[in-house]
Amino acid sequence: MGGKDTTGESVYESTNPARPGEVVARVGLADAAAFAAACRTAKEAQREWAKVPAPVRGRVIASIGRLVEANAESLARLVTREIGKPYAEALGEVREIVDTCDFFLGEGRRLYGQTVPSEMPDKNLFTFRNPVGVAAVITAGNFPVAVPSWYLVPALLCGNAVVWKPAEYAAASAEAMYRLFAASGLPDGVLNVVFADGAQTFAGLELALEEGSVHKVGFTGSSEVGRKVGELAGRHLQSACLELGGKNPMVIMPDADLDLAVEGALFSGFGTAGQRCTSLGTVIVHESVHEEFVERFARAAAAARIGDPEQDVLAGPLLDQKFADRYEEYLTWIQPHHEVVSGSTGRITEDNPRGDFDGDGGLYYHPVIVDGVRPGDRLFLEETFGPIVGVTTFSTLDEAVELANRPGYGLSSSIYTTNPKHAFRFREGISAGMVSVNNSTSGAEAHLPFGGNGKSGNGSRQSGMWVLDQFTRWQAMNWDFSGRLQKAQMDVAEIVPDLEFRI
Ligand code: NAD
Repeated sequence: MGGKDTTGESVYESTNPARPGEVVARVGLADAAAFAAACRTAKEAQREWAKVPAPVRGRVIASIGRLVEANAESLARLVTREIGKPYAEALGEVREIVDTCDFFLGEGRRLYGQTVPSEMPDKNLFTFRNPVGVAAVITAGNFPVAVPSWYLVPALLCGNAVVWKPAEYAAASAEAMYRLFAASGLPDGVLNVVFADGAQTFAGLELALEEGSVHKVGFTGSSEVGRKVGELAGRHLQSACLELGGKNPMVIMPDADLDLAVEGALFSGFGTAGQRCTSLGTVIVHESVHEEFVERFARAAAAARIGDPEQDVLAGPLLDQKFADRYEEYLTWIQPHHEVVSGSTGRITEDNPRGDFDGDGGLYYHPVIVDGVRPGDRLFLEETFGPIVGVTTFSTLDEAVELANRPGYGLSSSIYTTNPKHAFRFREGISAGMVSVNNSTSGAEAHLPFGGNGKSGNGSRQSGMWVLDQFTRWQAMNWDFSGRLQKAQMDVAEIVPDLEFRI
């Protein structure tokens, strides 16, 4: 509290998914009242923080970036240990925080408003970006430090206070990140971390919204919970920033470089064990190259290294037991009309090994490629967070776009083609917020808008200058120095044209 972690009665143990017996962090979970109290603390602290000049807040962001950079390896190792993300990827994730700080430290000296001409003389118009107030930020744990930084850094820079509720299974990473932010000299109460389960978070958020101590909700997680959080915010006349799930399509045209497409499908399908919001959902491949693509993709998946995330592997274990349980349920969606072309499915164990790897007791799963997926299948329509990729075919580009849009998500998408016309047609037709050409569905950069449409979100965007609209509200000011009351639309000089004039 007051800028420190809130601890509560019930205790949660975050464990290492590569060695589930190993506890990485033990945290007390807060109840709804404690969540709401943290929001009140933040509200109190925000008033003073907003008075700190934006360039000075930018210096604090610069310090956060330096601190994270100096601690990059230890933070990445902790991420690897806590959620099983391969170390190279975890280091990239930490780099993303530094990139985000690099972008926003300069924003402290911009945060531009405008001067706008008035329709009347002796009158000036201005716009200002005002901080929103308190941002309540709830995040998933598959990107336990980068995704939170997309909220925390711009929110703080803009003069807001934050109450952050990380995913429980990423508690140690969140705690470390909090400590790095706190070391920048942020005043007490400006950034608060609350560990709580979903139900208490929801109830606490409701309390805080009723009390008027939360002015912006940021939520990154499943579409199902995002819908509830969005409804709650809407009832309080707020528009939440919702960053939700994805069922990301990859279209492969007959003119594609198939080697490149296979590499992209492998990375976005099975990298991070398929647990990115931007992970590949379904490959939509032209019927003329379908057979060849599937054969090469299956071969690449079979050769990929899965194992200890501290080593050089494509994928480590699933994030946590909850995700392993859910993933096993997705495997039951495989139907008799499907063909699994990747060999074994399910958890990697002594009885179900992957080559000479028996899983070491960790939450490791075989990567699964399911061919013959049809548009009515659950596997085609719903997000399957984990290492499973569907494959279906198309004959025309219009059909491919229709298939790509059908699940109703709209986060990321990709097309492999050597024809620019195909790339631009696809871009126009696809409903996703992000489009890759000859690149996988994953791989956001810190200064491009990130976000989705449909079931992937409500159109909010993070990153770069676009996120400023989440954490500031425009204020319009007019200043009349004419010394008399000039009425807009009425006391406006008119210059009369001769509209009958013809040459
Ligand atoms: P989740 O929705 O179950 O949980 C996300 C967060 O919300 C967690 O901190 C959780 O404790 C909290 N939560 C759960 N129930 C809640 C409730 N009723 N009220 C308030 N908070 C609640 O998501 P998950 O399964 O942990 O994470 C995976 C999902 O997140 C996937 O769908 C993935 O695609 C999505 N995701 C999206 C993005 C993005 O930027 N679009 C990024 C990462 C993950």
